[in-house]
Amino acid sequence: MTDVQYKSGPVTRSKTLVIGNWKMNGSLESNRTLLDGIVAGVAGGDGKATMAVCAPFPYLAQVADVLAGTSISWGAQDVSAHDKGAYTGEVSASMLLEFNCSWAIVGHSERRAMHGETVELVADKAQAAAKAGITPVFCVGESLAEREAGQVQTVIAAQLAPLLAKGDELVARTVIAYEPVWAIGTGKTASPEQAQEVHAFIRAQLPTTAKEVPLLYGGSVKPDNAATLFAMDDIDGGLIGGAALVAKDFLAIATA
Ligand code: PEP
Repeated sequence: MTDVQYKSGPVTRSKTLVIGNWKMNGSLESNRTLLDGIVAGVAGGDGKATMAVCAPFPYLAQVADVLAGTSISWGAQDVSAHDKGAYTGEVSASMLLEFNCSWAIVGHSERRAMHGETVELVADKAQAAAKAGITPVFCVGESLAEREAGQVQTVIAAQLAPLLAKGDELVARTVIAYEPVWAIGTGKTASPEQAQEVHAFIRAQLPTTAKEVPLLYGGSVKPDNAATLFAMDDIDGGLIGGAALVAKDFLAIATA
């Protein structure tokens, strides 16, 4: 565990971090309009937040081309746990690095639910990303049934455990996103207090050397609720789905 070398550096919550997750949306034409809108808005903005977009794999070259030289970074929505070889359809962290990706989302609830990703696999993906020099954005979150059964902490702890088991150095290089499954794409947002409670729980699980990693909230974040969420002590920014597809909304969230 300790002899693993990570090319990505430690991450800290010094600045609000807002990452867009485009999911399986976009086209060359609509991406261009969206990115141009974001770049133009950032140029006239307050620069208080660090902004990034995570695009579908085929568009990473386009995103890299448009965003190069701006303050906005970019990344992917998934990454393989493997370095290379017979893994049809997979994309490795070293490939993402060739497109200057800074981030890779791992363990999004849609991938856990629809692609059968296990907690161990998600931690392996996070490690593969950090080894190659890409910061993993490690998603955790409970379903509505789990929340109603009073299992929020048990579920989150089980999702975090394989990451924590890989050692403090990896955790210190990981952004963690709390995304309650019942709030993703549903228009239902966790209240700032509900989100803060889980974020405080997550931070308490982290090793001393990784206490300051950014903890993002995700789940129907919009311009009108972002400010109250981001004002909470342990919420350091957001992972934004639907609202990241509208330049003015994404920008409004980043300045919230
Ligand atoms: C997401 O998919 O990561 C997400 C938070 O989606 P939305 O903002 O649309 O709920």
